[in-house]
Amino acid sequence: MGGWYDRRATLRRLWHYNCSMADGAATPTGQGGSRPGRTSAYPEPVDRLITELASLPGIGRRSAERIAFHLLKADEPKAMALARAIADTKRAVKHCSICSNLTAADPCPICADPERDRSRVLVVEQPKDLIALEQTGMYKGLYHVLMGRLSPLDGIGPGELTIAELLRRLDNPAKNPGAVKIEEVILGLNPTLEGDGTALYLAEQIRARAVAVTRLARGLPSGAQLEYVSKAVLADAIEGRREMS
Ligand code: ZN
Repeated sequence: MGGWYDRRATLRRLWHYNCSMADGAATPTGQGGSRPGRTSAYPEPVDRLITELASLPGIGRRSAERIAFHLLKADEPKAMALARAIADTKRAVKHCSICSNLTAADPCPICADPERDRSRVLVVEQPKDLIALEQTGMYKGLYHVLMGRLSPLDGIGPGELTIAELLRRLDNPAKNPGAVKIEEVILGLNPTLEGDGTALYLAEQIRARAVAVTRLARGLPSGAQLEYVSKAVLADAIEGRREMS
């Protein structure tokens, strides 16, 4: 930690910034250099970078400061490569018009792959769930990403998710890759209260269309998120899927 503070002090001197007062606001036991209502110890662009980094999941103010200083010390091409990667991702990555998976090409490579079983669709909440399932290598059908789950208390109803798009795929094979009719929908929602509620709602809608509905087996621990479950448990869950009751 000492080395890091030394480097921070050196950088501040390079900016010709008198930080003798500011150090008091950013002591090792403090909350960082900038707090609401306080004048920031950092030049404005750096303060903005730290604020943006700190808004990312899992990154606190202290880590954000460390990353910001790392970027300041890095060669310009290296630092700009990160900025470009973020810009390119936002510009080039879209949702697949069929399954809503994140993709640079539309339809996504999974929907476009003629080798996959297009009569089966596995429904997940988020693209990260799809990636976790795909990494098991156990599933060769298609997907449908709901982009969330029903949560009436948060104002998330069927209209906020891609449920209508899923039902259109069931009703009209032309909406499915290769115009293949969907024979089975596998519900792969997270085993949470809201995930279960969403699964029940979907099962009712799908059964009304005379399409088989199954769900992933309960090898998954209750309350777990698919993205954090081991590949082995996910593989069991795919193998052991059963009729929706
Ligand atoms: Zn797709």
